Amino acid sequence: MIRRPPRSTPKPSSAASDVYKRQDLYKEVILDHYKNPRNSSEIIEPLHKARGYNPFCGDEVNLQLNVDNNQVIQEVGFQGHGCAISQATASLMTESIKGKSIQEALAIREEFRKMMQGEQSNLELLQDLEILEGVRNFPVRIKCSLLSWSTLEDSLS
Ligand code: ZN
Repeated sequence: MIRRPPRSTPKPSSAASDVYKRQDLYKEVILDHYKNPRNSSEIIEPLHKARGYNPFCGDEVNLQLNVDNNQVIQEVGFQGHGCAISQATASLMTESIKGKSIQEALAIREEFRKMMQGEQSNLELLQDLEILEGVRNFPVRIKCSLLSWSTLEDSLS
């Protein structure tokens, strides 16, 4: 006979409370970047630029980049509108690629895509972007989160 623990047994699982803390942080970071987007000034006459649009949600991201002779991203600007996840991801993305080479930025993009698709990803490259892992729990939002990255790729191609 299998003995089941009584229903009233308290479950002070620290793993569960970590999950809740993580969800709180996830919401906090997204709202912060949505309300106070970083690198939101438009760069006039940039070397690279692109406009991205996600018809599923109506999100828009306009991205400008300036790179130096070593192909290192020195300046990045984005403007856009749409849901919190699309705009917060764009803001976090600009922070993560500034000061990186184009090659490094595209490597981060690839790791981000893997994270969104539930594949093993390089968290060392993703750094702060790891917080967006929670977007995976809302499949309809994954496109929102990938918009700025596809815009980045468009701007460089
Ligand atoms: Zn969206």
